[in-house]
Amino acid sequence: MTDTPRLPVIRLHPGRHKRIGLGHPWVYSNEVQMDAPAKAIPPGSVVRLLDAGGTALGLATFNPHTLIAARVLTRDPGATIDSAFLAGRIRSALALRSRLYDRPFYRLVHAEADGLPALIVDRYGDVVTVQANSVFMDRHLPDVLAALDDVLDPAAVILRNDSTQRAMEGLPEESRLAKGAVDGPIRLEENGAAFFADPLGGQKTGWFYDQRDNRAFVASLARGGRVIDFFSYNGGFAVTCAVSGAASVIAVDRSQPALDNAARAAEANGVAGAFEARRADAFNELDRLANAGETFDVVIADPPAFVKSKKDLAVGCRAYRKMTRLAARITAPGGILLAGSCSHNVDPPTFAEQVARGLVDAGRSGRILRFAGAGPDHPVHPHLPESAYLKAMVLQLD
Ligand code: SAH
Repeated sequence: MTDTPRLPVIRLHPGRHKRIGLGHPWVYSNEVQMDAPAKAIPPGSVVRLLDAGGTALGLATFNPHTLIAARVLTRDPGATIDSAFLAGRIRSALALRSRLYDRPFYRLVHAEADGLPALIVDRYGDVVTVQANSVFMDRHLPDVLAALDDVLDPAAVILRNDSTQRAMEGLPEESRLAKGAVDGPIRLEENGAAFFADPLGGQKTGWFYDQRDNRAFVASLARGGRVIDFFSYNGGFAVTCAVSGAASVIAVDRSQPALDNAARAAEANGVAGAFEARRADAFNELDRLANAGETFDVVIADPPAFVKSKKDLAVGCRAYRKMTRLAARITAPGGILLAGSCSHNVDPPTFAEQVARGLVDAGRSGRILRFAGAGPDHPVHPHLPESAYLKAMVLQLD
């Protein structure tokens, strides 16, 4: 696909090579000498990155129209970027997951941290979903698919291209099958239980593997208790708690297809008797239960991102605070509360502050048992700590 000697060249402004030299994988557009030839490079091209003095820094994907102009692929300026290169990276990512997990259900590729900038691949046994979040990955999807075939030969591949990052790159939304066939919800396993996800259907995403370890932790505290899981989606928290021996679990979501998948999981794991799906707005239901004086031994609230862009920060923070206040009101004395956030614009200290304020608003005290992020199948690039978007705080309340 790419003939290395003829790659276009991008030169950085004087001094702007230092961050790259220290290991950071991105070059911002104001760091690039954006002359007419640079501007004319087609978005999604592979470029040779040079410092101001002409020393080669490596090869990168390039988009002259985005704030992140270049994403480093390799520090080796002589490398060839083709499907064999991509296959090598996918093979390494697979080797790591095979070390981490016994069963083939995980995030297989987590973008920069796996050396594949802007590429996300989730694995459901022999079905994979692919999200290409840059013009380079989008243009090179045929190579990505060939590389996946080479390494894994999946029976089906679903392109799940509907992210906000794609919109920023000027790429269209699409959700379609690129290979094979998928018949209804896909079965997956996590923490020893079976679940169902529908990456092609009405729901935008398939499964949130990122909460795997947090689900296991909360479930270990749920035995014999009454559990309620707000924003339950396909039942990840709720059904894991039921399987661990909770006396009863209620999954609350406003999406019927999500609740149907949760109910299916409860059935498949033999815990349908302890499971209830409740279609409702989470905030209304929290309010209603609090006013009715109902309490639960374990309360889980892991919502969609309330802060989708920096300008929503104040409003979103208030929503996390309110969610915590309402969830704390229905947590029994001695009970467990999990508050989650997947907004990458909200850093862990900011989130922790909203949770702390929400507890005070509810007149409750307690202690943090665990404050964790995503599992290790969502590794973080050492120079992109901000890409650690997930926060899950588990508390015991007095
Ligand atoms: N906790 C889930 C992930 C949440 S995804 C997990 O562990 O997998 C967000 C979910 O919140 C979606 O299923 C969506 O339907 C639901 N949702 C969003 N806003 C809601 C609201 N106001 N009330 C109830 N559910 C809501």
